[in-house]
Amino acid sequence: DVRISRISSSIRVIPDFPKPGIMFQDITTMLLDPVAFKDTIDLFVERYREKNISVVAGVEARGFIFGPPIALALGAKFVPIRKPNKLPGEVISEEYSLEYGTDIMEMHVGAVQKGERVLVIDDLIATGGTLVAAIKLLERVGADVVECACVIELADLKGRDRLGDKPLFVLVSST
Ligand code: IMP
Repeated sequence: DVRISRISSSIRVIPDFPKPGIMFQDITTMLLDPVAFKDTIDLFVERYREKNISVVAGVEARGFIFGPPIALALGAKFVPIRKPNKLPGEVISEEYSLEYGTDIMEMHVGAVQKGERVLVIDDLIATGGTLVAAIKLLERVGADVVECACVIELADLKGRDRLGDKPLFVLVSST
């Protein structure tokens, strides 16, 4: 698919951000290319159009860029999954491990109903810890997480394995 190569070349890699040794995949350059950005949204929408998705859950922060246009195109709700103390209503929380220490993800109580079919969106999967926390939040309220989708997978980190039998769909796999 010619769209994949355009998307891949629209992503910039910045060495040593935010720390020395990290090669940061920067999707903001894709957002400057309306064709590549639209191709990204279209590829996700094509995949999920007939899948009866009623919720697109986007992970803070870049899941908030890709999730809403997909949700609108699918006629689904958009639900933000956020860093702690950002959501104003009653929340459920899930702690997850980082390279050093832990972090927390939160979701509003009542945003997702039992049995709803959910697509989880983020820009990138590295170790998979963030997506695992998002899946746990959704499954705690009885949702059916159909699939996780990311623009980029850092394949060497094997985050996919941490998702167990939960399917992961990515557009670009980077090694
Ligand atoms: P994981 O939990 O280790 O899979 O890390 C994934 C989370 O970290 C996602 O929310 C990403 O947005 C963020 N992240 C990690 N590395 C990068 C990167 O190189 N570019 C953009 N985001 C990244």
